[in-house]
Amino acid sequence: MHLDLSEFTARQARPLRVKMDEFQRERRLKHLIFASQLELEHLNRLQRLADIIRQLSKTKKGSDALRSLLSHKRAMLYFTQPSTRTFLSFMAACQILGLTCNEVRDPATSSEMKRESPLDSIRMFSSYFDVIIMRSPVAGFSECCAYLMNDLEKHEMRSVPIINAGSGSEEHPTQALLDIYTIQRTFQFDSANGTTAGRLPDLSKKFPGLTPGLNNKTYLFCGDLGRGRTVRSLATTLTNYQNVRMFFVSPDHEKLKLDLALRKRLESAGVEFHEFDSLDATWQSQPILALTDCLYMTRIQMEHNSAADSAAMNEMDLSPYHLSAARLEKLRDYAPILHPFPRDSVVQEIPTFVDADPRAMYFRQARNGMWVRAALLVHLFDVADQLLFLHSDFYGV
Ligand code: ASP
Repeated sequence: MHLDLSEFTARQARPLRVKMDEFQRERRLKHLIFASQLELEHLNRLQRLADIIRQLSKTKKGSDALRSLLSHKRAMLYFTQPSTRTFLSFMAACQILGLTCNEVRDPATSSEMKRESPLDSIRMFSSYFDVIIMRSPVAGFSECCAYLMNDLEKHEMRSVPIINAGSGSEEHPTQALLDIYTIQRTFQFDSANGTTAGRLPDLSKKFPGLTPGLNNKTYLFCGDLGRGRTVRSLATTLTNYQNVRMFFVSPDHEKLKLDLALRKRLESAGVEFHEFDSLDATWQSQPILALTDCLYMTRIQMEHNSAADSAAMNEMDLSPYHLSAARLEKLRDYAPILHPFPRDSVVQEIPTFVDADPRAMYFRQARNGMWVRAALLVHLFDVADQLLFLHSDFYGV
């Protein structure tokens, strides 16, 4: 594959806050490339839309109505990097809304084998489809595709929204969306779906500071923080909330630790954060797990290793980054355990016995991806009003 993005270098090098306007249409997202685009207003709106889609999907009548919303649109899923959940949940989201999907997962089956540039492939997709949902091993590629679409639009040519479904080890904004949605539902305390439903009064006796929602919480991220794009995107999105504290636990290896860019982003957002090298660490004489409201586990992303990294990591003791029974004991009674998945079945950062723990939220988290990605499509295609109308028609609200 020959991918030359040099025509976009100058645009890519601009500060994020300057670039972001180009991915918006007034208050609405035009493309979703960076987690920083997700402001509180978007998050609240998308969560509300996801709840409505979830509710309507419960009945045949509701599902049929949902399928008519975008039945005139087609989506291209261009995933040139392995994916199970993101790919399937986007496909399911399209199906919920009636969009027809097509996919290219292996560039060897496309004209990229005939030395077509991936940028030409994107432009071709935009001729046939109405949205391009893309995952690439190349950081920055989806950003450049969004510029390409904007340039076409400027010249009054056909242009479609680009959704970044994972770009290298850089960003995974739609994972942040579903992570936030899952945390929000857990801390609603009144959701029929949440394991904490109705438990706030009891829990508050033991944890007096506990409040609904994502504000006033300590989030612990554990594992491969340097290369985990989901960590970067979720930590960035959490800066929208008030009084948030973050604990970062990773092996003491420069590729695995919090990277400089995220560190700076958190500092400039005024977020309190602390770094540790074990889940057994303490903060102000208390185990960090006992101070944690939400635990975000990740796997060590071995596929990014150089030979030297592999040699160093094979020597490493990874047990301080595993969720053992003793560590589960220390974790707060209500703290949801999230993981973007896949978990590593050899390393077992989350052993399967944890699945039976009511705090294990990772399977629900994956299902939430489908609802919130459907909500994103509703938002991008600007049919939220039609959805709200449908909802009020069905439920009179
Ligand atoms: N599925 C997530 C991603 O695509 C996390 C992972 O692969 O570890 O980034």
